[in-house]
Amino acid sequence: MHEVHIDPTSLERLARLLDPERAERLEGSAAIARRILDGRVVWNVSATASGGGVAEMLTTLLAYTRGAGVETRWLVLDGNPGFFRITKRLHNVLHGLPGDGGPLGDAERAEYESVLADNLQPLRSLVRAGDIVLLHDPQAAGLAAGLRALGAHVVWRCHIGRDTPTELTDLGWSFLEPYVDAAQATIFSREAYAPPWLDRRRARIIPPSLDPFSTKNVDLPPADVDAVLRHAGLVSRPAARGSLAFDRRDGTTGTVRAHRHLFAAGDQVPADARVVLQVSRWDRLKDMAGVMTAFAAGLPGLPSDAHLMLVGPEASGVSDDPEGAEVLAECVALWTKQPLDVRERVHLVVLPMDDVGENAHLVNALQRHASVVVQKSLVEGFGLTVTEAMWKNRPVVASAVGGIRDQIADGEDGLLLADPGDLGGFVHLIATVLDDDHLAQRLGEAAGRTVRDRYLGDRNLIQYVDLFSELLG
Ligand code: UDP
Repeated sequence: MHEVHIDPTSLERLARLLDPERAERLEGSAAIARRILDGRVVWNVSATASGGGVAEMLTTLLAYTRGAGVETRWLVLDGNPGFFRITKRLHNVLHGLPGDGGPLGDAERAEYESVLADNLQPLRSLVRAGDIVLLHDPQAAGLAAGLRALGAHVVWRCHIGRDTPTELTDLGWSFLEPYVDAAQATIFSREAYAPPWLDRRRARIIPPSLDPFSTKNVDLPPADVDAVLRHAGLVSRPAARGSLAFDRRDGTTGTVRAHRHLFAAGDQVPADARVVLQVSRWDRLKDMAGVMTAFAAGLPGLPSDAHLMLVGPEASGVSDDPEGAEVLAECVALWTKQPLDVRERVHLVVLPMDDVGENAHLVNALQRHASVVVQKSLVEGFGLTVTEAMWKNRPVVASAVGGIRDQIADGEDGLLLADPGDLGGFVHLIATVLDDDHLAQRLGEAAGRTVRDRYLGDRNLIQYVDLFSELLG
């Protein structure tokens, strides 16, 4: 286990973005939290400190929690490759996909439990009776019973899910059932994600949120976006030498490294190209390969200045995702097979992960630069990348799967692809946006409003405080 340092962020900063009534509700909820928690610690345990939506959300929510005067701490599990293979298998089957097809039997259970037993050891001297522990995702679920035995209140938050059960989801849930059962409460992003056997009174529905002031989402003027992308070498024209500074969320300064090797395949994007962007982990569920295939096949129907950027973390960057390197290699192989005219228009980018702030700054600039942001996931618990792009007033084209169906109202604040397998339909939606500036602007502006109304941190924090009140009440 290691602890992630959390710098407090003042709640007032968030409150200033909200209308007075909403800001007052947030302040009121923070006061309730301080009163009922009364010195208790709210612990969070997750599988990784960077890469992916959970780490992204914890980084900012916990900073506000601290800023509100609530003692919260974040611990990251220690696992070994065998453990992360099993948890990735669980991740896949809970989405209804076979993944590596490996078993989830007694041997896997023994390995999973043994790694979590090792992780429980340091918790014994940290967690006190009465503390609240939030366990995130299948990786941490198996800690619930041990923590309850210490007298802690234990909540399991599941960030993934699938609307309709299948044999595979049943397999995953029967593996997890004994662990989830030990938690007092559970949190899902959608109602339909709760497993059939779970007592609904123990389940809460809390969709994720984003932080407008994080390095990933903070406003960047167009000139800065341009400078960052040129400096990093993502967009063509020689970048300036030396360093380019940016502000981190915690108020310190970072630098964008010039011409760090970023292209897994393809060349720099022409400065005047219109970019179609998908940002994702290299995970088959995100279907980066499908996006490329669709774009390649649909190229004749797309404007001649449209370029596709598929952007994800460096393969070594996300410690709990053992399939990343393999999926990236598949995408590079697929790119290599494309004819030259496709290869010139498709760019596979791996972002450095050794500096989380620099990574977020680059994602921010890329999302703002994109003419269309796409998310052609095959399944998706909740697509934070969709909400991030919407916040930046980008028109988004995304699969109508899982949480994305809550995030986008089709035709109003984005466009939904009814069947993620419909490659022709996907390109048609992209072309529709690229061919109609008025539509792109209308969708983008409505998207920003939707995020402001529904997906900022105040809603998420208030829902947590409501849950804590019930647990402690
Ligand atoms: N992300 C990132 N760098 C990358 C790829 C992804 O920071 O190279 C972030 C992305 O901006 C988003 C999160 O990882 O904040 C992905 O969350 P999402 O809910 O879309 O998918 P998940 O990875 O949780 O399945």
